[in-house]
Amino acid sequence: MQTAPVSFAARAKKALGDAAMRGAMAEVKGKFISARAQAAAEYGDFESLRERGKQIREQSINEMPALLRQFEQNAQAAGARVFWAANAEAARKITVAAARHHNAKLAVKSKSITGEEIRLNGALEKAGIKTVETDLGEFILQLAGEEPFHIIAPAMHKRREEIAKLFAQNNIGEGGEDIAALTRSARKHLRAQFLAADIGITGANFLFADIGAAMIVTNEGNGRLAATLPKVRITIAGIDKIVARFSDSADLLALLTRSATGQKISNYVTVASGARNGDCNDGSEEGPRHHYIILLDNGRSAMRKSEMREMLRCIRCGACMNHCPVYHAVGGHSYGPAYMGPMGQVLIPALRGINYMPDLPHAATMCGACEVVCPVKIPLPGLMRKLREKQVKEKTRPFAESAAVFLWTFVCLRPRLYNFAAAAMAMFLRLAGGGSKVRRLFFLPGWFSARDLICPPGRTLAQMLKKENR
Ligand code: SF4
Repeated sequence: MQTAPVSFAARAKKALGDAAMRGAMAEVKGKFISARAQAAAEYGDFESLRERGKQIREQSINEMPALLRQFEQNAQAAGARVFWAANAEAARKITVAAARHHNAKLAVKSKSITGEEIRLNGALEKAGIKTVETDLGEFILQLAGEEPFHIIAPAMHKRREEIAKLFAQNNIGEGGEDIAALTRSARKHLRAQFLAADIGITGANFLFADIGAAMIVTNEGNGRLAATLPKVRITIAGIDKIVARFSDSADLLALLTRSATGQKISNYVTVASGARNGDCNDGSEEGPRHHYIILLDNGRSAMRKSEMREMLRCIRCGACMNHCPVYHAVGGHSYGPAYMGPMGQVLIPALRGINYMPDLPHAATMCGACEVVCPVKIPLPGLMRKLREKQVKEKTRPFAESAAVFLWTFVCLRPRLYNFAAAAMAMFLRLAGGGSKVRRLFFLPGWFSARDLICPPGRTLAQMLKKENR
């Protein structure tokens, strides 16, 4: 998909000036890191588990078409109706058509990044179907009219005062800023929505081909309520969520929850296949009577055949963004829709086209932390480098950058010229710094707009070593 370009740099610049967001990030950023580190250490041989996770997900990608067909057969045998959506528009149309078929007026939705990817809420609202987010973070953001800031903790940038204000503006709860009371108010409000809803919409963490079932994990139980209380359930999942065997779920869950929040397991793990079985032994009325499963492609099949293939291993744990210094500084709203941090830097260009947000693959320090913590060993920095190479091959980088790289290469390939240029630059920087710091250079205005440079000694390292060795 190719749409008008969006500037990461412009969004990041705005975010850097948001003191409230940066303060909130400073408070929470270390918690995810230490929780994951402790959980991995307690597990024991976490590296072998990561390797196992990589192999499971590689099998998913290798056998994806056959596994998806197997999933479709088994899910339909269990009473679900499976639809294939080639793109976001098709997925929106199928969802709206299913909702209209059941004359739905109210939908409850559990957190779904795929739903964000296809902009589902807007389509449902346009069709006259009120849609209520039921994950607490997503619910807060829906009230605020904002997009998720993080895939696991979508409202992590919101402070309690802001949330209290939002609740008061929307007549939710009794007022006050007590966190427990705010949570109780949200729960009470959302319980009524669950009971009144005509349809429940969920994503899926994994789709198991051998049993035709979708797994969702949540900490609040809202996913299970959305999946089971309304008479109609709609599951929307990217085709990359497919996994061959349900027996692999233990390893995948162990990786997912430890990498995401440091938990051994999420509070709620729900596995469901088709619709409610009319022959329930206990005669209960639990479970939806109709279950529609929408399998979304939206660029994933093309990714499978491209250099970005390994990105399809992603299990959406969020560990890469939790450990990314750039994400910590600029927050989740600087990236594209739905996906953020290092995974977004690869996934967004892969799904929306390389030129949608052309500076996205460059928003990295290349420290490699994301790859080190990724539970399925996705080489994120390497994939970003491939995206950069593609931009160079397609000649879409700015002329000034290409000219500078050309000049740099020309000089570096000529040692005498390099030594002369380096010595001249060392002297120049010494003069520009005036003995303290270099604060601006006319030919690098962007670089110095957010940084300064300690004044160099006026000689190159080679010159200093030469002098030492005399
Ligand atoms: S890329 Fe890896 S670390 Fe990042 S969300 Fe996906 S699985 Fe988690």
